[in-house]
Amino acid sequence: MTDNISAILYLISSVFFILALRGLSSPGTARQGNVFGILGMIIAVGTTFTLPTVLSYEVILAGIIIGGGIGTFIARKIKMTALPQLVAGFHSLVGLAACFVAAAAFFRPEAYGIGTFLDISTGSLIGISIGLAIGAITFTGSIIAFGKLQGLITGAPLTFPGQHLVNAILGITLVALVAWMTIEQIESTFWGIFLLSLIIGILIIVPIGGADMPVVVSMLNSYSGWAACGIGFTLGNSLLIVTGALVGSSGAILSYIMCKGMNRSFLSVILGGFDDGSEIFGTTTSREKAIKSGSAEDAAFIMKNASSVIIVPGYGMAVAQAQHALREMGELLQADGVDVRYAIHPVAGRMPGHMNVLLAEANVPYEQVLELDEINKDFTRADVAFVIGANDVTNPAAKTDPSSPIYGMPVLDIENAKTVLFVKRSMASGYAGVENELFFRDNTMMLFSDAKSMCDEIVQALN
Ligand code: NDP
Repeated sequence: MTDNISAILYLISSVFFILALRGLSSPGTARQGNVFGILGMIIAVGTTFTLPTVLSYEVILAGIIIGGGIGTFIARKIKMTALPQLVAGFHSLVGLAACFVAAAAFFRPEAYGIGTFLDISTGSLIGISIGLAIGAITFTGSIIAFGKLQGLITGAPLTFPGQHLVNAILGITLVALVAWMTIEQIESTFWGIFLLSLIIGILIIVPIGGADMPVVVSMLNSYSGWAACGIGFTLGNSLLIVTGALVGSSGAILSYIMCKGMNRSFLSVILGGFDDGSEIFGTTTSREKAIKSGSAEDAAFIMKNASSVIIVPGYGMAVAQAQHALREMGELLQADGVDVRYAIHPVAGRMPGHMNVLLAEANVPYEQVLELDEINKDFTRADVAFVIGANDVTNPAAKTDPSSPIYGMPVLDIENAKTVLFVKRSMASGYAGVENELFFRDNTMMLFSDAKSMCDEIVQALN
């Protein structure tokens, strides 16, 4: 295949990737977006196969079969709730791949047609050093994020005195090393960039904790894109440059949107909890305070007699896989003339868009699913807020307690509804470890149960 034809095919697959991103920006078109993404990838891989620079099809096929096999196995086994750590794990592999490509290009540049060892063209060296630096930062940063999300290391921010100064010095040293490598080609500079970037990756993620982890996940997504973009320059592959830049910029935009949604400074999160002086993960329980608890029958009775019910799903709904039973409950209530809507907080669950995906999977009509900004004022007119497996995203401490780790994050104003029903298994706090004072309010009724069992029982009672 001539260079021109492969360039055109790469351009077509880039267009498909852009259409995929556009489709994924709304739940209604997300499936179509996925199809575009798959088409783009098929064209990209097929075109790469025909390039004259391909030396061995056996190695590529072996990689696709082994990697694809492992990926398929993991995708079939993985629980929806473990997706964030899976994504973090995958990002670490993208980072590592960028480091390997950079090493291959630096030590065997003739294989890429970019010069000879220690005599590489400047343009290629810039690609190699930036790809190496971002790749190594993504690699260790993603491993730390994986450990935090999986609960292998504490999710609380780990800080030490002078941390930001140390980070700043390391960051400046890294930039200097990258510049040095493009001027003087010395082998030790390559290893210096690699080691320093590995350390920086750890240092910028360990101080981020609690409510800021969602931003970290999308930020690492962005880093992995830029790392791939760097590889693209090294390999002289235009598609990888475009795709990497698309992932990098969309991840950065998502991080920015999430920071805005959580009222966090983008810079402070990236630099590792700059403005976070609060005690985090202080789990307090007020056993002596009185609470009201009820049964599925009580909940069914209250909701059947309501004219408006707003459902607030959270992480617990995902764990219990309660979305189908929940949709059935909503439909029965609607059949009784109740106005039923769903309120989605931007960081509900454990990954961006977590609740939208689950509700879409259960075929909840999109027009009933509203974002925080669209529905928050409606709680004052709602008879019931039915909170199912959500906690932090409803916690008023975010509005009232400046010492709280979630302070400043916009929350759903569920307490304004006439009655608040909380479905959860215990009095335990949520991800950020902060007690929710709404459990003790007069207009709250706790429904202690697994989310799916409770929905099933309410459905039975409604029937
Ligand atoms: P939370 O983690 O605040 O609360 C979830 C609640 O669900 C818990 O209090 C738990 O209580 C309950 N629960 C757990 N399992 C079940 C079950 N089987 N049945 C019923 N209830 C259950 O979740 P939210 O969605 O309110 O908030 C998300 C939190 O996660 C935020 O702090 C956010 O910052 C963080 N986060 C979000 C990410 C994202 O991208 N969306 C990524 C990483 C973190 P109990 O144990 O008593 O049942």
